[in-house]
Amino acid sequence: MQSTFEKLQQLQDILSRKFELEHEIHEIPRALAKKQELLNRLKKSYIESNERFEGTKRSLLNLKKELGEAEMLREDSEKKMDVISTQREYEALEKEIKSATEKEQYFRREIQKEERNLEEMSTELKKDEEMIASEEEELKEEDAKIKAESDEKHVHLKELMSEEKAIIPGMDEDILFKFERIIKNKSGLGIVPVTSGVCTGCHMMLPGQFVNEVRTGEGILFCPYCSRILFFGEQEEVFEDTYDEDDVGGLADLVDDDFE
Ligand SMILES: [Zn+2]
Repeated sequence: MQSTFEKLQQLQDILSRKFELEHEIHEIPRALAKKQELLNRLKKSYIESNERFEGTKRSLLNLKKELGEAEMLREDSEKKMDVISTQREYEALEKEIKSATEKEQYFRREIQKEERNLEEMSTELKKDEEMIASEEEELKEEDAKIKAESDEKHVHLKELMSEEKAIIPGMDEDILFKFERIIKNKSGLGIVPVTSGVCTGCHMMLPGQFVNEVRTGEGILFCPYCSRILFFGEQEEVFEDTYDEDDVGGLADLVDDDFE
């Protein structure tokens, strides 16, 4: 029996490292997913900025076209000035020229404004492009790093699994199954000593008769409170043998309940 307890303790070490490693492997891609998400947002916003940029370019073209039309209108009116004969015609033409000139001025101002906008947008777009490129580069590096890390952990995991395989032959499968679950659920501690009548896993005082059964080391006993496997540890005081059959029955029920 002693050797079973020793094996369980070795196994506990292996299993808890194995579970920890599995958890780490599972967590690795998360950091990468966050970076990818950031990059996707950058790209989306870049596409939107680019659409605004194209829109401004179109509006600039329109303004230039309108400016051309206003210029032509004014030039036509100026030519007509040479052939008019009445004061009234003169006044009407003068009005047309004035209005066309005002339009021209308006369009020129608008064109200047849009050209400035376009320039600012273009600078912003270049900045965004650089940022996206650098984020992409970073993501690539991170990806490679994570892959190397993950490969390393998988190698380590394989080693632990073969260590596990070397220990378990001949051990009770049912107990192994329970033991793995305890270690998974109780953060790595599946077998603990009973010291001075107390389970050192959950610090609950155990009944004297139960402690005596643990002391014999003849079977695998589970703590009725935390379900961990118990072995008899170093004692601070000697226990009296107080036998109580009802107590033993009750404990057995509790152990089973934990694994249903
Ligand atoms: Zn316990």
